[in-house]
Amino acid sequence: MLIDGTAVAKKIQERLKEMISQEKGRKPCLVMILVGEHPSSQIYVNRKGLACLEVDITSIVRELPASISEADLLLHILQLNLDPTVDGILVQLPLPAHINTQTIMRALDPSKDVDGFHPQNLGKLLMGDTDGFVPCTPLGIHVLLIESGVALEGKHVVIVGRSNIVGKPLAALLIQNKPHANATVTITHSKTKNLSELCQSADVLVAALGSPRFIKANMVREGAVVVDVGITKVEGKLYGDVDFDAVQEKCSLITPVPKGVGPMTIAMLLSNTVKSYQKQKSR
Ligand code: NDP
Repeated sequence: MLIDGTAVAKKIQERLKEMISQEKGRKPCLVMILVGEHPSSQIYVNRKGLACLEVDITSIVRELPASISEADLLLHILQLNLDPTVDGILVQLPLPAHINTQTIMRALDPSKDVDGFHPQNLGKLLMGDTDGFVPCTPLGIHVLLIESGVALEGKHVVIVGRSNIVGKPLAALLIQNKPHANATVTITHSKTKNLSELCQSADVLVAALGSPRFIKANMVREGAVVVDVGITKVEGKLYGDVDFDAVQEKCSLITPVPKGVGPMTIAMLLSNTVKSYQKQKSR
């Protein structure tokens, strides 16, 4: 019943480790830019760094003060874009309010944008061009569904949440005319009418809204597959967007929080970094 994201991520990481061990010369290198002292960002960057260590990707954290100007941050990115020993650049979000996130994303060299947020990579995803980088969370969800044997063709996938990092790119991935895709996708958001009815019509329901235990059992069809992307800390405990205890009784498969989508996001970051490394090496 439970989709074990940790186990699938571990399998992928072992495969990556094996691939890296076959490489001669320098190892893949990921640079993470951390601006300010946002506690969750520090935790995420640490986790990503540890995962890099496990598979033998060199990871470097560039810690910059919250007061850094947009122009100075752009200079850091430019320098990393030009450094031939850097395969991946990740700018940990959120950035301080005085910095325009879109400006920073656009400054990244798309061929090193392993988070897949550069407009060129998002455009390639929309066009079904596999040459670019797909954002890590949607890619992780897609791989998790495939690895769990969930057939998507012709299925109705309802995604709750239309963010640029989860909902929209996930829809673009699942709607493609390709094997393991070909789903019919509905994206919903805070202005959607009849949200409950739409969710009930889902063969696969993806909750990515950031509202703890929002999806109740009466919003889920009997036998549906439920993917919970949400992570919210309430009084020291992590909650997803799905009312897990009640919903698990109704669905055929469900991802837990934690140990569901989260570890897959990290595994896909590593996978994108290795993809970039192999492309840089073959140039
Ligand atoms: P955003 O806040 O950027 O987007 C949330 C989306 O949910 C918006 O489109 C919003 O609608 C929609 N929404 C909010 N409330 C409702 C509602 N009541 N009914 C329907 N739609 C609603 O969030 P993110 O996409 O960045 O993240 C979503 C969740 O996923 C968070 O908990 C985040 O922590 C988690 N997350 C987890 C990751 C992982 O690796 N597991 C990675 C990334 C995120 P509108 O556009 O109208 O405002």
